[in-house]
Amino acid sequence: MSKQTVEDIKDLKGKKVLVRVDFNVPLDDRQNITDNTRITAALPTIKYLIDRGARIILVSHLGRPKSGPEEKFRLAPVAKMLSELVGKKIFSTTDCIGPEVEKVVSQLKDGDILLLENVRFYKEEEKNDPEFAKKLASLADVYVNDAFGTAHRAHASTKGVTKYLKGYAGFLIEKEIKFLSKILNDPIRPFVAILGGAKISGKIDVIKNLLPKVDTLIIGGGMAYTFFKARNISVGDSIVEEDKVQLAKDILKLAIDLNKTIMLPIDHVVADKFDANANFQVVTRAGIPDGWKGMDIGPNTIVKFGHAIKKAKSVFWNGPMGVFEFENFAKGTLEIAKLVAEITKNGAISIVGGGDSVAAIEKSGLANQISHISTGGGASLEFIEGKTLPGIAALQCK
Ligand code: AMP
Repeated sequence: MSKQTVEDIKDLKGKKVLVRVDFNVPLDDRQNITDNTRITAALPTIKYLIDRGARIILVSHLGRPKSGPEEKFRLAPVAKMLSELVGKKIFSTTDCIGPEVEKVVSQLKDGDILLLENVRFYKEEEKNDPEFAKKLASLADVYVNDAFGTAHRAHASTKGVTKYLKGYAGFLIEKEIKFLSKILNDPIRPFVAILGGAKISGKIDVIKNLLPKVDTLIIGGGMAYTFFKARNISVGDSIVEEDKVQLAKDILKLAIDLNKTIMLPIDHVVADKFDANANFQVVTRAGIPDGWKGMDIGPNTIVKFGHAIKKAKSVFWNGPMGVFEFENFAKGTLEIAKLVAEITKNGAISIVGGGDSVAAIEKSGLANQISHISTGGGASLEFIEGKTLPGIAALQCK
């Protein structure tokens, strides 16, 4: 899936480039951006275009506006932060199509940046409406997609516009494809996948696609308890998806057929209720007594998982090992983060994908020691599931 990139666009000077970015940043009650990772991730492409004298038209969504413009979803805070980061004035408009936008675009000079207003103020965006896509596309000469986080959606600004403009990958999308394809198609072995989080649902296709490719699959977090149930091991009051028990049985059988190792926790930190201040204790065996919930992997599990992780040359990690948001149950996730950082220092390739795993790795302060942290939760999971992402498929092939 080799795609042409922004570097393949000829004669950028003076060209109007529509760039789909993912500026869907978290904001607090006062409209302050609490994490600017998504903005900084788009900077290499933006700076490349500035340096070559392109006229840059950025298009993004923010939040989930219901129908039409909503003040709290305006991109003004993003424009301010972007301006600080690139050290330039950012032009902005109160709309993303129409006469006002056309006028500002016509006045852009080489190297200028315009940030269009939230594209999801139009319901036509998510419907991939051809007329809306045409209007967006009419603003520019060429299109670049650097919004990996929305690449799994066939929207007007991610797919529709490519009917009218040639589309190229930005550096962020290029980097995501490079890391995710390598680990999926040609991993350096041993390849260990670590999956966690609350549920198996939503990760079934990830497990199915990864199992034949990995050497070892480590399963922690709440999803482990459905596998326990499948093995008739007591789970106490832990989270279990009853309707996925058969599926867990099938996955365990598939692993045997494929001669792959699935590792599950051998001890746990359990709590008497789902609460940050709950009473808790370590249960030094796999089974969990009634009245207790598994909230984190235990110390022996950390050691056991650690043995497998230390041997790995490639690691893909999605989903925390426990309820890491509560301090008493964060240790398993933080220790796994340390192990993954350590093997990366020794030359292994590590990829962390998905919202909560990224939050966990950031909480551990080790984010800069990971080879690649995917900026797209849903998009990276769909990629790992082996699905074609419409926003990437629509770009020019090499
Ligand atoms: P996911 O979105 O499926 O990756 O799930 C992430 C969530 O799983 C986090 O909010 C964790 O608190 C939660 N989680 C992890 N382990 C457990 C557990 N043992 N019991 C309940 N929730 C868990």
